[in-house]
Amino acid sequence: MAYGVWRMGDGTGRASAALLALAIVASPLGAQAPPYPTKFSAALASDPAVSAALAWIDDHFDAQVEEWIHITEIPAPSRLETERAAYVAARFEELGLQVSIDSIGNVVARRAGTGGGPTVVFAAHLDTVHPLSADVTVTRRDGQLHAPGVFDNSASLANVLAAARAMAAADVATRGDVIFVGTAQEELGVVGMAYWLDANPGLADMLIALDGGLGPVPYGALGIYWSRLVFAGAGSHTNTSRGKPHPARAASRCILDVYDIPLPPPGAPVGAVYNVGMLRGGEVVNAIPEEVTVTVDLRTVDPRLLTQLDSAIVTACAAAARGEGVEFRRDWIQRMDAGGRPEDLADRRAHPLVQTAVDVLTHLGYDFGSRPEAIPTGSTDANAAVVRGIPAISVGRSLGRHQHTLREWADVASARIGTKQIVLLAAALAERSGSPVPRLP
Ligand SMILES: [Zn+2]
Repeated sequence: MAYGVWRMGDGTGRASAALLALAIVASPLGAQAPPYPTKFSAALASDPAVSAALAWIDDHFDAQVEEWIHITEIPAPSRLETERAAYVAARFEELGLQVSIDSIGNVVARRAGTGGGPTVVFAAHLDTVHPLSADVTVTRRDGQLHAPGVFDNSASLANVLAAARAMAAADVATRGDVIFVGTAQEELGVVGMAYWLDANPGLADMLIALDGGLGPVPYGALGIYWSRLVFAGAGSHTNTSRGKPHPARAASRCILDVYDIPLPPPGAPVGAVYNVGMLRGGEVVNAIPEEVTVTVDLRTVDPRLLTQLDSAIVTACAAAARGEGVEFRRDWIQRMDAGGRPEDLADRRAHPLVQTAVDVLTHLGYDFGSRPEAIPTGSTDANAAVVRGIPAISVGRSLGRHQHTLREWADVASARIGTKQIVLLAAALAERSGSPVPRLP
C-alpha cells in the first residue's frame, strides 16, 4: 500500500527506508536475543511435495509472468476492484478451492487442511492507487515490467495464484487451513482486510500480507493518521477586512503551534513523526478566504503516543481557530491504528512467524546484506491483524521501484522468490501434513 515507511524506499535500495523506520522505532525493547524460534527446517525444504511445488513454479514461470501482465492490465482503483476480483476468484475456483466474494469485495479462497494445524491467511490487495484513466498497458524491457500497479500489487496476486497452483499440482497438504484473500480497498487504509477480520473473528491464527518489495520482514503496525483541518469564516473583501475573522491567519497559527508540539527526543525507544503536507484555501487575491485547509500526516507505532499527539494537534488548532474567531473542524482522510507498543515488540519478534519468513527468504537466496532481517514497523494489510492481536507480517513480491507513480516497475526474476516463499511459508506455518514439524519450545 501507500504509506509504509519501508515502502517509501524501494525493493532495490532499502537502506534509507530502514533508517526511517529506526526514526519511529529505535529497537524492540527487551527483544529476545537470537536465535528466534522458527518453523522452517531443511527437512521441510527437501520434502518431496514441497520440492515438487517449487520446481513447478520454475517450470511455469513464463505463464506466471503472462498472467502478471494480464492482471496489471485489469484496472482496479480502490472500490472498483470488481473485474480484477472476478478474475482472481475464477482462477482460485479452477483449483477446487472454496471461493467467495464478500460484500466489500474481498475474494476469499479456502484451501482446507487435513486437520489439527493453525489457520494461515495470505492477503494480497486487489486495488491500486491509479485511476481508471491511467494507462496500465505493461511494457517489458531489460528483465523488468513497467506499468502503473505492476509492482503494487498485481505482482503479489500473480505470485499467490502461482503458489496456489503449485501447491495443488504437487499436492502439498497442510494440517491447518490456508486461506488466500484478495483484499479490497487496501490503499484506502486496509479497509477490506479490517472488514474481513471483523467478519471472521478468531479464524486467522496467523496472517501474512503479500505486499511491498522483497526485504526486511515487517512485523509491527505503524499507526498513520491523516487529518484535514478546516478553518472557515464569512470572508470579506480586502477593503473591509480589518479585524474580521480570518481562516488563513488561524491556519497559519495552527501550523506554527503544531510544530511546537514536542516529539520524543532522538534516540527515544519509540519515536513519532508528523508533517503538514497540503495547504489549500482562497479563491481570489482581494478577499479573506472563506475556507482554508491544512493536512497533517501523523505516524508512530505507539498507540498511546498516536492518540496523545493527535489530540494535541487538534487542540492546538481548535485554539488557533477560536483566537481568530473562525470555525474549526477536523475531517479524517485516513486512520490506521498503531500496534507497536514497545512492550509488545519483543513478543512479536519472537513469534515463529517472523523468523520463519526470514529463514525462508534466506533459504531462497535473498540477501539481506547490511539491512535488518525484520523491522518492527509495517503498513500493509498485516496492520489490521496486528492491531487485533493476531500475529502478522508482510513479505515482499519482487524487487521494483516507483510504486504509486506512473513510472512503476518490477523486476521479473525476483518474483520467483516472492512466489516460492508463499509455498514454503504455507508448508511451514500451516504445517505440512505427514511430515515432521519442528517442535517449538
Ligand atoms: Zn500495496
